[in-house]
Amino acid sequence: MPTLDNFQFVDAEVSKPNDGEVLVRTLYISVDPYLRGRMREGRSYIPPFEVGQVIESGGVGEVVESRAPNFQPGDIVTGMFSWRLHNVVKADGLMKVSSPVGPVEAGSAGILPAPSAPREPSITTALGVLGMPGLTAYFGLLDIGQPRQGETVVVSGAAGAVGMTVCQIAKIKGCSVVGIAGSDEKTRYLKQELGIDKAVNYKTGDLRQALKDACPNGVDVYFDNVGGDVSDAVIPLIKNSARIIICGQISLYNMDQPDVGPRPQPYLLINSALMKGFIITDYAGEFSQGVGALAQWLSEGKLKYAESVVEGFENTPRAFIGLFTGENLGKQIVKVG
Ligand code: NDP
Repeated sequence: MPTLDNFQFVDAEVSKPNDGEVLVRTLYISVDPYLRGRMREGRSYIPPFEVGQVIESGGVGEVVESRAPNFQPGDIVTGMFSWRLHNVVKADGLMKVSSPVGPVEAGSAGILPAPSAPREPSITTALGVLGMPGLTAYFGLLDIGQPRQGETVVVSGAAGAVGMTVCQIAKIKGCSVVGIAGSDEKTRYLKQELGIDKAVNYKTGDLRQALKDACPNGVDVYFDNVGGDVSDAVIPLIKNSARIIICGQISLYNMDQPDVGPRPQPYLLINSALMKGFIITDYAGEFSQGVGALAQWLSEGKLKYAESVVEGFENTPRAFIGLFTGENLGKQIVKVG
């Protein structure tokens, strides 16, 4: 488990942009579970961070100075930024964020309720429902999961950024949706605000029994964000020709040694089921189509989103660590300025 001691704040000079570069003032930082994977050595789909170097993740910022023709001071942009107050970035790695409606205000607990009525998406949606997590939900569920009307879709990590989008897309596709999350506040939100069929708190009671009760006809699609014990409880319930989407395994990210749970292969075998992992960049060529579909559902009020906002650049490590203790409802972001 990362601790605050693992992070260090350092003062440094801000360099000047060269041709083709812009200077961006950071407004929002996205903290994401996958960053934990970059904090360990070994082969993965993305190189590890180097000890002593600045961490990077998705961000939204304002152009302060531009040496690139497509960007002007005042433009709101998104891209991969280092965790700094100002970054010099290559213009070809940036995208303008349209429809800015001003910064989102955090609620008292830093949790924003999903908007009850459709509205212009805020600029922070570029980090959430209209960004990487939204696209992950969209392509993972629709391409691998192939959900069909009337099927039962189970989602772990259901109250997170990816999970709550998956739940709602599955509802749009006419499925019966069962979400698994780590608090009663989250399960209530999933049922009452997002209208999913059933929601189970994996931290209380007998998870296996609760899932059996919630899925009396078995599971057609399992969208897995967490792995571990939760998945061990879901997989015995799969039906013939089930599809299991391996999106994330957050329950394992802080383990020193991989653990061995019940092995899934017998269930896959006897059910002729599919289990497939994916990384969202597999779908890079189709991102604009995915964002278009998500934005359409947002504007029609069929898709809602929630954001948890931690205020202050100095609280970025705390916001990141909070992902592993379930502090967030929906997308966790840090409001910098
Ligand atoms: P979330 O917003 O879902 O935040 C993480 C959530 O995980 C927490 O709120 C917490 O919710 C839950 N969690 C933390 N620890 C555990 C645990 N030990 N067991 C069960 N649940 C736990 O993050 P994202 O939506 O950004 O990401 C969700 C998953 O998708 C992650 O595993 C991430 O790595 C993966 N991902 C994969 C991508 C890909 O390309 N394949 C792209 C983006 C994300 P709770 O209170 O319910 O426990």
